[in-house]
Amino acid sequence: MDTIANIIEQQRSCFKSQQTKAVSFRLELLKALKFEIESQEQAIYDALHKDFKKSQFEAFISEVGLVLSQLNLVINNLESWSKPKRIRASLLTFPSKDYIYKTPYGTTLVIAPWNYPFLLAMEPLIMAIAAGNTVVLKPSELTGHTSKILTQIIKKVFPETIATSIEGGVETATKLLSEKWDFIFFTGSTKVGHIIAKAAAKNLTPVVLELGGKSPCIIDDSMDLKLVARRVVWGKFFNGGQTCIAPDYIIVKSNKKEALIAALKAEIIKRYSETPKTSADFPRIIDKKNTTRLAALLVDVNIVYGGDIDEAQCYISPTIVDEPALDSPLMSEEIFGPILPILTYNTEKDIEQIIGHKDTPLALYIFSNHKGFIENTINTYRFGGGVVNDTLIHFGNHRLPFGGIGTSGMGKYHGKHGFDAFSHDKAMMKRGNWIDPSFRYPPYKGKLNLLKKVFKYFG
Ligand code: NAD
Repeated sequence: MDTIANIIEQQRSCFKSQQTKAVSFRLELLKALKFEIESQEQAIYDALHKDFKKSQFEAFISEVGLVLSQLNLVINNLESWSKPKRIRASLLTFPSKDYIYKTPYGTTLVIAPWNYPFLLAMEPLIMAIAAGNTVVLKPSELTGHTSKILTQIIKKVFPETIATSIEGGVETATKLLSEKWDFIFFTGSTKVGHIIAKAAAKNLTPVVLELGGKSPCIIDDSMDLKLVARRVVWGKFFNGGQTCIAPDYIIVKSNKKEALIAALKAEIIKRYSETPKTSADFPRIIDKKNTTRLAALLVDVNIVYGGDIDEAQCYISPTIVDEPALDSPLMSEEIFGPILPILTYNTEKDIEQIIGHKDTPLALYIFSNHKGFIENTINTYRFGGGVVNDTLIHFGNHRLPFGGIGTSGMGKYHGKHGFDAFSHDKAMMKRGNWIDPSFRYPPYKGKLNLLKKVFKYFG
């Protein structure tokens, strides 16, 4: 038996032993995980910096801080989340007491991407453990330093029969996917999402797919452009533009385009200086392959700001592109880097022309003071979630479910939604025995009219 099959076998028998069912056991592990992450905090920042020069501030706010706050939330609420929930009974099934039991799926697989390599590996793992599953994590091969520390932390806190990290690339992921899992949680590209869904379908394994897409940012002419520029530049260039919910491109009311571009330029300079390469707050592209991919998107387009590329250093400066063609490579695929195309509109039909031709994005942003325009936009388009008058920060409220639709994914998580994602809702009815009307039993003759009345009034 090879290692992967062996680990899964051991996790499966551990799950069957009922060990993970005790909430006290899960809490003990999660508290130990919290302690270990806090002890390794600086080492995590160092790893993220080595991987792509991520600043400590962004590493805290978008990785370690979020993980610790999810851990605190789970530790404080796990007892109550795990309890069977009493549900209102139906008169049709009287007498009964009805419940939802939260039950773990079993042996689960988590595959993580590189762009928030600590957060997007740890958060699903925490939720898997909280819900009483065992878990095998495959972190990204592109962030070697962070993956190494993830593996160390997991090894220190968890017995391999409960949780383990298996590092590796496509070959390892393919091997893992050839095994039978009880649940798969994948974060990554839409392209690989198809591969995951296909592998899961073989065994009818439930999946959550957290994917990406081209997230539009619509700006009308009712806003203070200084404020808009501040929030757009922050959301677009955070993590070097390598964020699944980054505004991919802007659609601005045409009479405001020039003023917006001027405000964006001023804001970029204010945040990252005239030479962002020397800014400690502007990270690098994750690797050469992605740098080359992004550089190719800048060929034959009208760059109105930035465009500095140093492929050897995996550096691309914050860049603004004016009106690229809708069928250009820049507008055909998710950018996932610090390049911001600006498109324009005059009527809402123009917006539809642009967004309607794209797949269903993970996020959509609207900057406007017009309630009707805002509500119409929210209701017209299919997208995962979004923000009115800001970018990214819906990610920060754990009460909001986070997930895509169509090509941007399926399923949702964050906070209690994450615990729910890793739990099966077992519906249980406990029947009373003190009365048992003969009505539902054959012979049925003469009972149908009464049955119809019962359904009408008590269904
Ligand atoms: P990716 O799909 O290339 O890789 C993700 C993971 O899948 C990695 O662990 C990788 O090893 C594995 N993988 C790659 N090819 C595989 C294959 N053929 N078979 C099986 N596994 C394979 O994605 P990435 O480049 O790491 O991340 C960027 C993408 O992730 C972007 O599209 C981004 O929008 C998306 N993303 C989504 C979210 C979200 O929460 N929805 C968050 C972050 C990133």
